[in-house]
Amino acid sequence: DIRTSQELIRAEEPVLAHNYHPLPVVVARAEGAWVEDVEGRRYLDMLAGYSALNFGHRHPALLDAARAQLDRLTLTSRAFHNDRLAEFAERLARLTGQDMVLPMNTGAEAVESGIKVARKWAYEVKGVPADRATIVVAENNFHGRTTTIVGFSTDGTARAGFGPFTPGFRIVPYNDLAALEAAIDDTTAAVLLEPIQGEAGVIVPDDGYLTGVRELTRRAGCLFVADEIQSGLGRTGRTLAVDHEGVVPDLVLLGKALGGGIVPVSAVVGRRDVLGVLRPGEHGSTFGGNPLAAAVGTAVVDLLETGDFQRRAAELGVVLREELQALLGRGVVAFRARGLWAGVDVDPALGSGREISERLLAEGILVKDTHGSTIRLAPPLTVTETELREALAALARVLAA
Ligand code: PLP
Repeated sequence: DIRTSQELIRAEEPVLAHNYHPLPVVVARAEGAWVEDVEGRRYLDMLAGYSALNFGHRHPALLDAARAQLDRLTLTSRAFHNDRLAEFAERLARLTGQDMVLPMNTGAEAVESGIKVARKWAYEVKGVPADRATIVVAENNFHGRTTTIVGFSTDGTARAGFGPFTPGFRIVPYNDLAALEAAIDDTTAAVLLEPIQGEAGVIVPDDGYLTGVRELTRRAGCLFVADEIQSGLGRTGRTLAVDHEGVVPDLVLLGKALGGGIVPVSAVVGRRDVLGVLRPGEHGSTFGGNPLAAAVGTAVVDLLETGDFQRRAAELGVVLREELQALLGRGVVAFRARGLWAGVDVDPALGSGREISERLLAEGILVKDTHGSTIRLAPPLTVTETELREALAALARVLAA
């Protein structure tokens, strides 16, 4: 029963919910920065699973950790302890400069967990009256797809038809400290932000914004919760995007690359006086902190502790900027980049982001549009300089055609 890509795409249509509109490529194998489709065509992966594949597809050290763990123990639930969780939590806390870890599975769950922790902290520590806690978020945020999270999205498509929504959120413009200050009051539990807005088009705030958020929240006595699910774990040239400003949030949300592209692993990491508000029975997850996830997550921390991936992202980020700079006025109207991560606004006259992505697919390059005519470039951090330049040369060809 060997089916072609076209047959497999057609076979999905009646049986798979239509919540995505994938590019017409059916991936069957992958290694490093490369994937191969059913017919054996090879593509350079410049999306890297929305940054879940920072270490490339099937990184040998991560596969070894997963295989070794598969042979010993995969799941206990947190009804019992498992022998992998302590090390994972110790190592992840140390890597991120925090005290404690709350292990979950997906990004949205880490965000939901961060919201719950911030509210509980507001009632128990800050003394906000019951059910009055507010959380300040930014316009054009993307934190996931659960009902609470889409409830404070400003993207109509993400929200429409899914209400009623959870109250208690205030939305302010991103990168605007005055608006943020005006939105914070005695009820504010936390400010929840992406240090760089990924889905919005890799929006990098002004230098000093994150420092300002840290100072404001400290002065106001509320928490700074940084969603580093897409920006974190090496992508920007540092372990966390907040590291560029030397800022330490009260809670950091991690996901995507934490599972090495093998298993879903997310976490809330934070200070003991904040995460410590949770007591038995108040929060949990059947799979959160499972030994397979902990083993892979620990191997991810091993890779990040070397600093090699952060260094590569920073060095190749210079190449990425240089190549994009050369495309300005040649089909690219603007771009924003940090490390191996860029949002590229293509001249809408040349096609939508979708159309540009389809033309790049035909050139053997996998990318995905974010919004309108913006495409995101986020290759595995293992990509070589030659591969990166090839991808940008393909973009130049597509824009010149
Ligand atoms: N937060 C940010 C910043 C994200 O970019 C994403 C996913 O793109 C999420 C949260 C949600 O993660 P997940 O899709 O694993 O629920």
